[in-house]
Amino acid sequence: MSEISDQLLALYETTPVLVAAYDAFDRLRYANAAFRAAFHVEPGEAPTWAELMRRNHRMGRGTVVNTPDMEAWLVSTISRRGKESYRAFETDLADGRWLLMTEAVSADGWMLCIASEITSFRPDERTVRQDRDLALRAAHTDDLTGISNRRFVTARVGDMLAPGGPGGGCLCVLDLDNFKYINDRYGHQAGDVILRDFATRINGQVRRSDCFGRVGGEEFVLVLPATGVVEAELIVERMLAVVRLSRPLPQRPDFAYTFSAGIAEARPDDSFSDIYGRADRALYVAKMEGRNRIHVDDEMAPPAAGVG
Ligand code: GH3
Ligand code: MG
Ligand code: MG
Repeated sequence: MSEISDQLLALYETTPVLVAAYDAFDRLRYANAAFRAAFHVEPGEAPTWAELMRRNHRMGRGTVVNTPDMEAWLVSTISRRGKESYRAFETDLADGRWLLMTEAVSADGWMLCIASEITSFRPDERTVRQDRDLALRAAHTDDLTGISNRRFVTARVGDMLAPGGPGGGCLCVLDLDNFKYINDRYGHQAGDVILRDFATRINGQVRRSDCFGRVGGEEFVLVLPATGVVEAELIVERMLAVVRLSRPLPQRPDFAYTFSAGIAEARPDDSFSDIYGRADRALYVAKMEGRNRIHVDDEMAPPAAGVG
């Protein structure tokens, strides 16, 4: 076995194919020579994907990213990056090469990236393929905040509940407190700034295997596959703490806001609306109990069919 690993690693060093692996925290833990050359990584270096993208973008090398706002682009991309078990897309490098990049994600959150050069592969159809990728990205993105939208999050809940899925898991509904009042008091534009602040802060705390998206006006969903309620509560408690410290309005340095959360654990044979309904009713209890807090669903499971 170790002979094969050794041979594979030696082959990787000489192949023109780009090979890399990122851990669950999106840190580059392995990159072969071709990958290091294309993305300017020194041997032994372990930058996160965001650090790597940011630094290459600044120096005009690596992946070409056409965006006026790199930070917003990163937030938006991280919101969907590695949330599906497999993905393939085309990307161009600043040196003029085109790559077909594939990303395969394991259940523990490690990601294998393999890219091959396709510079001369049907360049006439490239625009069509790129337009398709852009359309897909738009179809999965919330316009205001740049994070995942309802469609993308709903699909991830579907993955979590699927018979062959990871099993277990929690769905959390996060809703900003007294947002109507905030809009009335500070204006709709300030409201939008707060929504973006919230999306960015929470997004920054989401693990690779989890998914966070905006599903309505000031309502967000966090999907935590293979996670029990105790851990889910800890994760959301940390988010409550981060948001309490945020001061998103520069012209109002004292202004702070909060949110409430309802958490429901997946049950066998749950549908999307089953688990969403329980999380939403738990959210209602959190609101009734005073907001700025979590309530975990404690509804009794219905008796098993065929019994009694
Ligand atoms: P609660 O604590 O019970 O959730 O109270 P709330 O005021 O947050 O709840 P409610 O659902 O009554 O109000 C939600 C408000 O969110 C109403 C709407 O004006 C505002 N809202 C929805 N979408 C947007 C948006 O995109 N931008 C802004 N600025 N406000 C929005
Ligand atoms: Mg609200
Ligand atoms: Mg609401």
